[in-house]
Amino acid sequence: MRVIGVLGGMSWESTQSYYQALNEGVQQALGGFHSASIVMISVDFAEIEALQQQGDWETAGGLLADAAIRIEGAGAGCLLLATNTMHKVAPAIEAVIGIPLLHIADATGEQCRQDGIKRVGLLGTRFTMEQDFYKARLLEQFGIDVLIPEAAERAEVHRIIFDELCLGNIRESSRQRYVDIIASLQQQGAQAVILGCTEIALLVNQQHTAVPLYDTTALHASKAVAWALDD
Ligand code: GLU
Repeated sequence: MRVIGVLGGMSWESTQSYYQALNEGVQQALGGFHSASIVMISVDFAEIEALQQQGDWETAGGLLADAAIRIEGAGAGCLLLATNTMHKVAPAIEAVIGIPLLHIADATGEQCRQDGIKRVGLLGTRFTMEQDFYKARLLEQFGIDVLIPEAAERAEVHRIIFDELCLGNIRESSRQRYVDIIASLQQQGAQAVILGCTEIALLVNQQHTAVPLYDTTALHASKAVAWALDD
């Protein structure tokens, strides 16, 4: 089995989901006492979040690139950047490592394409919803059109991620808000909705809506498990 590198802590609430999914995936495939072989660095999210606020993506990219080098040095054979938003700086990380970065948008796009999804709604931080690094990759590499919520809904989706989910705070009222926004994306033509932030599945899952959901945390972890077992 190959060693999976995880660059986590963004936030640690969702890195827990990754740790569980990676181990469960390997255990399900190999049985017995098998579990995933993992090298992880978990950063202090306060530092990264402050740089996001300042728009200083270069410094944030440098911090993550340094951590990625240490993960490679510790023996990992691939890298999972355990956040959608920070894939904005994926090129800066890829430039300094010799191991493949398994891109979260690719894990998601591959599954959408396999399921015949051509038009999808996207929920995530405002950076992920509003900037191009994620949506353009889905369109250019997978031919998938991306719809995002309208401005007031985007603000609410973003606020709930940072004020609640990244702090481990799960509220029924926020779940209902997300479910309503998911329904409105479907009404606008989305065949499915991408949970494009690694904390969202802590709040909403397929039990809460009939609209098909693509959980980026689960898809990303599952891609890494397949990679680890393909040795
Ligand atoms: N985990 C979140 C994501 O997947 C947001 C936290 C961050 O800004 O990295 O985008």
